[in-house]
Amino acid sequence: MENQKVIETFEQMVGKEFVQTEEAILQEYATDITGLRMVQKHFGWKSENLAQCIVKIHTKEEAIEAIRFLNQEKIVNVPRTGGSGVCLGLETPKGSVVLDLSEMNEILEINEENLTVTTQAGVALERLETVLNKKGYTTGHFPQSLPLAQMGGLVATRSIGQFSTRYGGIEDLLVGIEGVLPDGELVRIKNIPRKSTGPDLRHIWLGSEGTLGVITEVTVKIFPMAEDRCMQAYAIASFHTGLAIIKEIMQAGWKPAVTRLHDETEAAESYGPFMQAGESILLFLSEGPKGYAALEGEAIQAVVEKHGARALGSKPLELWLAHRNDICEHLDMYAKQGAVADTCEISAMWSDIGKIYTEVLERAKKEVPHLVAITGHSSHSYEQGTNIYFMMGAMCAPQVEAAQKTYDQLFGIIMETTLKYNGSICHHHGVGRYRAKWMKQELGSAYPMLEKIKTAFDPNGIMNRGALLPVE
Ligand SMILES: Cc1cc2nc3c(=O)[nH]c(=O)nc-3n(C[C@H](O)[C@H](O)[C@H](O)COP(=O)(O)OP(=O)(O)OC[C@H]3O[C@@H](n4cnc5c(N)ncnc54)[C@H](O)[C@@H]3O)c2cc1C
Repeated sequence: MENQKVIETFEQMVGKEFVQTEEAILQEYATDITGLRMVQKHFGWKSENLAQCIVKIHTKEEAIEAIRFLNQEKIVNVPRTGGSGVCLGLETPKGSVVLDLSEMNEILEINEENLTVTTQAGVALERLETVLNKKGYTTGHFPQSLPLAQMGGLVATRSIGQFSTRYGGIEDLLVGIEGVLPDGELVRIKNIPRKSTGPDLRHIWLGSEGTLGVITEVTVKIFPMAEDRCMQAYAIASFHTGLAIIKEIMQAGWKPAVTRLHDETEAAESYGPFMQAGESILLFLSEGPKGYAALEGEAIQAVVEKHGARALGSKPLELWLAHRNDICEHLDMYAKQGAVADTCEISAMWSDIGKIYTEVLERAKKEVPHLVAITGHSSHSYEQGTNIYFMMGAMCAPQVEAAQKTYDQLFGIIMETTLKYNGSICHHHGVGRYRAKWMKQELGSAYPMLEKIKTAFDPNGIMNRGALLPVE
């Protein structure tokens, strides 16, 4: 169908003012805030693959009608909420249609008996937290992108928050969900804490990244606000000692909501006045009903003392709490300086994670020309392993292609090393289009399962083509 006809159909469907076709807006929607594009834009990058229009969806009925039409015409679409994705998951294929659900932003029900909240997909997490906090509740979900991300996107990317050790990732919080399948069928998975009725269908939506349908509504758990907190920081001799300490705490069964280990470079940069040369820093925040935090705090102290840690009190934690999301206001900070900079989070078992950290740093320092920094921290831990969140930056010639080369080299080292040690190439940012090329290696013999799910749900390939699964 001709572009003009497509646009007219959407104008009739949702109203003329909710269909945007101006080139500047299409450029704005052409990508997300992946570090690569931030610096490339600074060097003059513009997308050659613009969508034909942006459609603002306000109701589930509109979502159904839009998807049904797109499927019938076999037009690729990109669902979108907060736009805070960092893996090129929102990059528009040429001639596609963006379904923007950010104005589907009603908080539908706060259920204080069952401790759940149901929202439309475009509800901003920060707003939801403010509303819940006033009633004495929290979602316990605090990604660093709290000021940007929205509920649909959080589920679609399998996000995780900074207090995950206590509250879990979004997969632990999701109780029920509604979405529109690519053929236009509206499906609702009812709210139930746990059941044994075949595969858990909620997991089809979790991490689907817009490739299997459009999420319209989610129900997540809420928790009473913690009554007590205990905040402790410790300086330790090395990053590897820090990993051993966290492993011991996790395997003993403690769940400090915030459990972070920053390597010596990050420690010196962010907590300089507290640190001595070469030291890494451990941050623990325990919270819960009265009495819980102090008990957990004592247990943590006993473990870290055994490993020769130096207690730093609560000040570094207070500093972290006050500034943990500042980056959201300065997203283009490094790009403006002409640096190729980004973060990359991977995960692995305890037996392998230390090797990945060491080898990535060694390789990057040896192989990447004009490397400014490569650092790492662990911020989400489990009984079996943890994640490493690498932060990296390098200078390059101020050209789009040079930025791509440097970015590919930095990311390539992390992906290759992680796969070498059987880790996962992505702990929480999602795969998007950038990491899709490693998905066959990531999933190994399980890859056909993902392919078959995609084909069964979306035989016409209209849902966010190129994200999550590589396009041959
Ligand atoms: C500074 C910064 C810090 C970050 N920190 C964290 C962090 O701590 N933890 C974390 O997990 N992530 C983090 N992220 C990544 C990002 O915020 C998350 O991936 C977030 O979940 C994306 O939500 P969104 O609403 O912005 O989704 P979008 O960016 O709009 O979309 C992301 C993906 O989800 C799909 N999608 C969006 N809405 C729908 C829908 N309704 N139906 C189907 N598919 C949909 C899109 O197609 C896309 O593939 C960070 C990002 C930034 C920029």
